[in-house]
Amino acid sequence: MNTPHNRLPDFEELLRMLVATPSVSCTNPDVDQGNLDVINHLATWLEDLGFAAEVTPLPGRPGKGNLVATLGEGDDGLVLAGHTDTVPFDEGAWGSDPFSLTVRDDAFYGLGTCDMKGFFPLVLETVRELRGRDLKRALTIVATGDEESSMAGGRLLVERGKPRARFAVIGEPTGLTPVYAHKGMIMLSIRLEGHTGHSSNPDLGCNALDAMQRVMGALMQFRGTLAEQHQHPGFEVTIPTMNLGCLRAGDNPNRICGEAELQIDTRLLPGMDANAVLEGIHQLVSEEAARSGVSFDVKPFYPPVPPFEGQRDGDLVRQLSVWSGHEPQTVAFGTEAPFYQSLGMETVVFGPGAIDQAHQPDEFLAMSQINPGKQALTYCINRYCIEEAA
Ligand SMILES: [Zn+2]
Repeated sequence: MNTPHNRLPDFEELLRMLVATPSVSCTNPDVDQGNLDVINHLATWLEDLGFAAEVTPLPGRPGKGNLVATLGEGDDGLVLAGHTDTVPFDEGAWGSDPFSLTVRDDAFYGLGTCDMKGFFPLVLETVRELRGRDLKRALTIVATGDEESSMAGGRLLVERGKPRARFAVIGEPTGLTPVYAHKGMIMLSIRLEGHTGHSSNPDLGCNALDAMQRVMGALMQFRGTLAEQHQHPGFEVTIPTMNLGCLRAGDNPNRICGEAELQIDTRLLPGMDANAVLEGIHQLVSEEAARSGVSFDVKPFYPPVPPFEGQRDGDLVRQLSVWSGHEPQTVAFGTEAPFYQSLGMETVVFGPGAIDQAHQPDEFLAMSQINPGKQALTYCINRYCIEEAA
């Protein structure tokens, strides 16, 4: 690898700069922020290491973009990938400033340290230490935007058909355990609209809450059917789930309820078709609304996150399993892995930090993850980009 300059700061300084660059993704536009400043930092550092960096804006999402940075040639190499945005934070709940990296108790504290800004300094340090080695196959670093709300960055990669490689490591926090499968996700809102009226006579209105009760019954039945039809022994919760998470309706006991909204979260197993499930939900709401004489609207918060199942016995998963001493696992959180898989890569989710710390106040990355993380990435780069292909 050609590294004419070595101006790259050390791991802690890199992480400090990334944490200090806010990139909160939120479905609430008042809270939502861009990620281009984070991407520009990464592009500069990677260019210093000899990479060709390309920044692509996310259509319709101002201030947001993807970075694809490549060293070497060809489409049979390795991708190391992650997202650059974070979730919002509870101001009062943090023991220190979420945007200023704090080092204590052998850990780095700050918003996004674990999920997953910390992965990028790890990659940069690993690449820097490999300088001078010739790459036989390309090494590509991908840094996406808007993963935490719409996954628009991952979707854009698929639309553009780039990057191309044989293997992809998604550095989400798995405690350096290879993860070969995760569930898919649909989050949506169901709104019913009837008519208000005096509570003393039901004929004076059309009760949206009564109608919602029937919709909820139908949803729970649908949930049961899905669970009968689909099981996957690789998951802790072996069936698809549907959580009725939030209900808002009406305003007063003596008024007929005119409007009701229900928000649900559905987790799909690999092999399930997210669009078919969405259609099923739409169908049952439409039937129950017609029966109750209310109008309805079914609105996903974002396009469904597809479930993911990679190759449990593929080379990448097996190598990382042997390297880490951990059996390949499944997890219940969604990642961008299905997008890389659909681009033709053998994909694994494998990164430093524990998911328990993600999306929490006082998020941290334990220092004990840094050296093993670098060793794992070094091993992957050696095997898939530097050594003669087997
Ligand atoms: Zn994440």
